[in-house]
Amino acid sequence: MISNYNCIEKELNNISVMDTTLRDGEQNPFCTMYDNEKIEIAKMLEKLNVDIIEAGFAASKGNIEVMKEIASKIKKPYLCGLARATKQDIDATYDAFKKYDKRIVHIFVPTSDVQNDAKLKKSEDELIEMAASAVRYAAKYFQIIEFTPEDSVRSKFSTLTKMCKAVISEGAEVINIADTVGYAMPQEFGQLVKNIKQVVKQESDTVKVSAHCHNDYGMATANTYYAIQNGAGQVETTIWGIGERAGNCSLEQIIALSLRKPRTFDTQIDSTKLYEAAKLVSRATGIKSDFAPIVGKSAFSHKSGIHQHAVVNDVNSYEAVNAKDFGRKSELIMGPCSGYHGVISKAQELGYTIDKTVAANIIIKMSNMVRQKIKREFNDNDIRFMLEVIHKS
Ligand SMILES: [Zn+2]
Repeated sequence: MISNYNCIEKELNNISVMDTTLRDGEQNPFCTMYDNEKIEIAKMLEKLNVDIIEAGFAASKGNIEVMKEIASKIKKPYLCGLARATKQDIDATYDAFKKYDKRIVHIFVPTSDVQNDAKLKKSEDELIEMAASAVRYAAKYFQIIEFTPEDSVRSKFSTLTKMCKAVISEGAEVINIADTVGYAMPQEFGQLVKNIKQVVKQESDTVKVSAHCHNDYGMATANTYYAIQNGAGQVETTIWGIGERAGNCSLEQIIALSLRKPRTFDTQIDSTKLYEAAKLVSRATGIKSDFAPIVGKSAFSHKSGIHQHAVVNDVNSYEAVNAKDFGRKSELIMGPCSGYHGVISKAQELGYTIDKTVAANIIIKMSNMVRQKIKREFNDNDIRFMLEVIHKS
């Protein structure tokens, strides 16, 4: 057994959650959402208790109207808009949120050579001045300014240091370390966050370091977790992990990790509403993954006989994550590889008392149907039907 499984928890750091399902999530080519869907998702994010909703990107035409509408429907979380380091984008973000008193602008400037050469072709000094002057301008209009050195992971540490110092001196309160192309490995990313945190601390005690991770190598959640362990005070997530290319750190996975024992951090998120939120985002985008952790269809389901037998006695035998924490319940799914215990327990759940012989009969029936290619999934109604037929015969 992993040591400390049942250890006593110390006081936990509270990590802010910025959810960017409506911004980075929507930037996935297959996740375009209608305005009414975005408003429903924003309301759901408020119910989930996220600290910040990133509601859109000022450079995308059409985002401003829905950002305004979200601002008129939401009360509790901060609302954030992404902006390039231009007056035009900062003004558009202010225009969207001017009637809302908890507003954040999230300004980014590329800092890696590969991105700078491909997009801006500016000297390091020019990039730094561009960032500093944008933050200076935005400070008049926003309570909080978040600054992202875009592609932080592939940037020179010396450039990151200079840029962070410059934007903090102009009023940036969140420095977001972005693994824009999902290149980092967990230990590297953790170390980068730690190093940046030291730079930030020399400038200010209140500036937060945030982590924004992409999933190109499947490391988005692991990297975000390592960022927290190395001093990040904010994480950026999306529901289902939807986002550019292979996606972002998934909200539900990082919240599950916040509840894993021994706990190492806390958030304000109401985890019991995550499943409902995931279903809402699925309906809006068509995106879902049946075997995704936490919110996938099969995340708490058991089909094989050995697992079902054990789970009937003690659900912890084959579940490390507590289904109830996420508004879900454990399920026994019947199939040809189910065993007596599972089938008897399922029958009981449906109001029938059966013995091993009847259970064996049902397993044979399912097995035959699969072999004859008649059917391969068996829901409660199918099992009920088989029980009734046996009962009557
Ligand atoms: Zn991103």
